[in-house]
Amino acid sequence: RAGLSGRNSYQFYTEGMNSQARQRLRLESALYRALERNEFEVYYQPQIDPASGAPLGVEALMRWNHPDRGVVGPDEFIPLLEETGLIIAAGEWVLRIACAQCRTWQDEGFPDLRVAVNISARQFLEKNFVPLLQEILKETGLEAGSLDLEITESVLMQESERLTGTLGAIALLGIHISIDDFGTGYSSLAYLKRFPVNGLKIDRSFIQGIPGNSDDMAIAFAILSLAGNLGLRVTAEGVETEAQLGLLNTWRCPQLQGYLFARPMPADSFPPWAMKALATPGDYRPV
Ligand code: C2E
Ligand code: MG
Ligand code: MG
Ligand code: MG
Repeated sequence: RAGLSGRNSYQFYTEGMNSQARQRLRLESALYRALERNEFEVYYQPQIDPASGAPLGVEALMRWNHPDRGVVGPDEFIPLLEETGLIIAAGEWVLRIACAQCRTWQDEGFPDLRVAVNISARQFLEKNFVPLLQEILKETGLEAGSLDLEITESVLMQESERLTGTLGAIALLGIHISIDDFGTGYSSLAYLKRFPVNGLKIDRSFIQGIPGNSDDMAIAFAILSLAGNLGLRVTAEGVETEAQLGLLNTWRCPQLQGYLFARPMPADSFPPWAMKALATPGDYRPV
């Protein structure tokens, strides 16, 4: 298995290894150390109600405060965490922090705030995932309905009893499931009918293309209307421009996320940002 081979490769480390393999190994051992030294941090990006400009929720996004390189984004380390199996420990850590943080913010004046956490396929299909969710909710006092798990279409493609069982148990607990990056994988609307899914996120690549690209326009609009009719909550990710916002409002997209509203931010920055957003409703609303 990947975790084991990762560990074995330490033993096979030789002068003969190519520099790419050596580089990878260095990164892998750096990740072990980073976990031990608490160099990871959870950032939060608001998810906006277009009608009021208020945050409906936040998405938890991992960052690595690298001692030399500064803040490193997840695209540089999530794949390796997945390959080595370290994603199980790291993902558990993110879930725990994000749930506790959301509960704290609810208590501090944002009572309806929700939190979305990205879950890797491997983590989602782990045997103890459902008991872990129950444990974390109990421990943090967060209600199941405030938690949204973001999984990708690739998870739903793994036809297995484990998958069906996990999805069913999560639905029973009242935790929400959203399909992330929707439209980029082997999208099948059949999944939406077959599995207990509550929402989906239109991938940034389609949002980028509106209003200029007619294919992206058609795809984004089709996802929105189909999902709306299926009773799913749609989030547009990567909203950067007023033009995109205008169109998404015309199409009645219920939830928006993107740099136009806020970049992912450290936990301390969220309350002041949210207070300001609540104090100036309509700031981002086209008149
Ligand atoms: P994602 O779940 O699709 O998250 C959205 C990504 O889009 C984030 O990148 C966010 O910073 C970025 N984004 C949001 N709005 C905009 C925008 O307006 N413009 C642009 N250009 N980008 C925008 P980030 O934080 O680099 O995360 C990348 C991916 O890493 C995530 O994609 C997710 O798949 C993964 N990831 C992050 N944190 C975790 C985690 O805790 N666990 C797991 N398994 N995966 C994670
Ligand atoms: Mg996500
Ligand atoms: Mg996404
Ligand atoms: Mg994405």
